[in-house]
Amino acid sequence: MGEIAERRQLPAVQRLMEAVQRQAPDLPRHWVHRGVAETLEAARRRLEAGGRLTEEALAAEAVGRARALDRPHLRPVINATGVLIHTNLGRSPLPADIMAHVAAVAAGYSTLEFDLEAGRRGSRHDHVAGLLAEVSGAEAALVVNNNAAAVLLALSTLAAGREVVVSRGQLVEIGGSFRVPEVMAQSGAILHEVGATNKTHLADYERGINERTALLLKVHTSNFRVLGFTAQVPTAQLVGLARRHGLPVMEDLGSGVLLPLTLDGYTEPQVQEVVAAGVDVVTFSGDKLLGGPQAGAVVGRRDLIAAMKRHPLARAVRVDKMTLAALELVLRRYVEGRAEELPLWQMLHADPEGLRRRARRLAARIRGVTGAAARVGVVPDQSQVGGGSMPATRLPTWVVTVEPLAASAEAWEAALRAGEPPVIARVQHGALRFDPRTLLPGQDRQLPAVLAAAWAPWLTPGMADGDEHKV
Ligand SMILES: *Cc1c(COP(=O)(O)O)cnc(C)c1O
Repeated sequence: MGEIAERRQLPAVQRLMEAVQRQAPDLPRHWVHRGVAETLEAARRRLEAGGRLTEEALAAEAVGRARALDRPHLRPVINATGVLIHTNLGRSPLPADIMAHVAAVAAGYSTLEFDLEAGRRGSRHDHVAGLLAEVSGAEAALVVNNNAAAVLLALSTLAAGREVVVSRGQLVEIGGSFRVPEVMAQSGAILHEVGATNKTHLADYERGINERTALLLKVHTSNFRVLGFTAQVPTAQLVGLARRHGLPVMEDLGSGVLLPLTLDGYTEPQVQEVVAAGVDVVTFSGDKLLGGPQAGAVVGRRDLIAAMKRHPLARAVRVDKMTLAALELVLRRYVEGRAEELPLWQMLHADPEGLRRRARRLAARIRGVTGAAARVGVVPDQSQVGGGSMPATRLPTWVVTVEPLAASAEAWEAALRAGEPPVIARVQHGALRFDPRTLLPGQDRQLPAVLAAAWAPWLTPGMADGDEHKV
C-alpha cells in the first residue's frame, strides 16, 4: 500500500475507475468517471496542501462520490423540523394514493385535453375548474403554474397600461423573488400606492381612483403581522367602493384556505368568504394551506376569468398534467368533505397529547440506537405552519432532543443530511430536535434505523438495543 506524496504518484483515471467498478459494479460508468475525476481533483489540492494519501483511500472516496452522483438530485427527505409548509422541502406533502393516480396519468396517455364523451379536443382546464368553482362558490376558475403566475396573469389581463390601487401596507414580498411592486411592473400595470404602512382608510382608496384606474387590489399580508396602531379596509367596504366606480376588485390571498382554520387564536381568511364578499378575482397557491401540489388558482367572475384564459401569458404559465392530476384529487377531497384526511391537515390538527406520546416512543427507540453516545430527552416545543403562512402562529408540540456526548450536534446534524434518506432536523442549544408533527406515517418507525446508519461512526457497537423500556 504505497503512500502518495506528490501528484505524479496519483493513479491514472482508468486505473482508479477499475478499482471503483470492482467495488461497485452496479454504478453507471458515467458517474464512476465523474466520481473519479472529482476525487483526483480533490486529491491534487490535498497534496498541494502537504497532505498524504493512499490508493485505497482514493478508491473508497471515489466510490462514495460516484454513489452520491448516482442518486437523483431531487429526492425525498424526512422533515423533522416541525415546519409544515417548508418551502425549501417542497411545501405540502401529498397523499400516496393521490400520487399513485398522478403516476398512472403521467406514465401513459391521458384525457388531458380530450373530451371522451364527444371524442374530440377538450380543455385541460375542465378537470379542476368545476371543482374549484364548487368549493369556492365562484362563477369560474382557472389554474396556472403557481400563485405568482396567477397574480401576473390577472394583472396583465385586467390592468396592463392602467393603474392599480394598492394599500402601502400590502406591498408584500414573498420569499425574495415575489414582490407586489415588481410583479405589477412586469405585468405592465401602474402601481398607485395609497395610505400609509400601518394604516389605510377607505378615503385613501377613494382618492386613489381616477380615470386611469383599472383595478383595486388587496394583498393578504400572509407572511408578516403589523401590530399596534394599524388599520386596513375590510374587504366588503372595498367591494362597495369599487362597485360605485364600476371597477373590479382583486385579492391575492396567498394561502388559499378552503376550510375554517383558527390556530393559536388567529383565523386565516377563507377563499369562500372572500368570494362571498364580492371580490371579483381571488388568487391563491395550491401548495400552501390548501395542501395540494404547486399551482396557482384564480377564481371569480366568469368574464374576467375568460379574458385571462385568452391572454397570451396564459400559455406561458399553464399547468402540466401531473399537477392537474394531483390537484383534481385534492379538490375532490374538499368537495367530498374529506379534506381533513390530507397530510397537511392531519399535521395542522395533530393534538399535543398524541404528539407527546409519539415523541416518547420515538425517544425510546432513538435511545436504543445512541446508547451512551448521546443524551436523549423529550421537551415541549412549538411547530410552525411555514411557507410564509400564519407567521406568528405557534403550534404546541413535543420534540425529541438528542445531545451528542461525542462530537458536536452540528456534526451529527450534517451526518443526517448526508444519510439516506436525508433527515432534516433543527439544532438548538447543542442538541438536535426532532418534531414528530412533520413525520409522515411510517417515518416514526423508520427514523431510528436511519439515524443509526448516519451516526454509526460515533456509536459503539453493543451500546445499542436493550434500552427500549427506559422512556
Ligand atoms: C405565497 C404567496 C404568493 C406566491 O405564491 P406561489 O404559489 O409561491 O407562487 C403570492 N402572494 C401571496 C400573498 C402569497 O402568500
